[in-house]
Amino acid sequence: EKNRWHPILGAGWRDEEPATIFDKLMSGDIPATVVKQDDKIFAFKDINPAAPAHVLVIPKDRSGLTRLGKATEEHTEILGRLLVAAAEISKDKELGFGDGARIVINDGPDGGQEVPHLHVHVLGGRSMQWPPG
Ligand code: C5P
Repeated sequence: EKNRWHPILGAGWRDEEPATIFDKLMSGDIPATVVKQDDKIFAFKDINPAAPAHVLVIPKDRSGLTRLGKATEEHTEILGRLLVAAAEISKDKELGFGDGARIVINDGPDGGQEVPHLHVHVLGGRSMQWPPG
């Protein structure tokens, strides 16, 4: 993966990357189906849904949160806002959610994370299995 282990920037996980595809979705450069947004969070339908209902909730300002593993106490408020938004979205029948959902954060390479901008997956509309793959 390009920049994953940058020779000059060190072992940060693409933390120095200035923007991701999510920034282009938020700016409208790439069209997205926006589900919800406010001053701090942005939620949109996943382009490659892994369930009948699949929404991603992201902080508008990534501010160091390339991945959950970067979270510190200063991120407490935004982390709460992301989860509250996920809870609201997970109850939206018009989006295809039923009674409950799978809320997932993939953290880093071993967690299966691909986009280095923290995102909460809200998956539903079918019965989930455990353990996940
Ligand atoms: O957790 P992970 O980083 O793997 O998730 C990235 C998610 O972003 C994927 O589910 C992918 O389908 C989604 N995505 C998207 N629109 C894009 C690029 C990726 O919804 N343009």
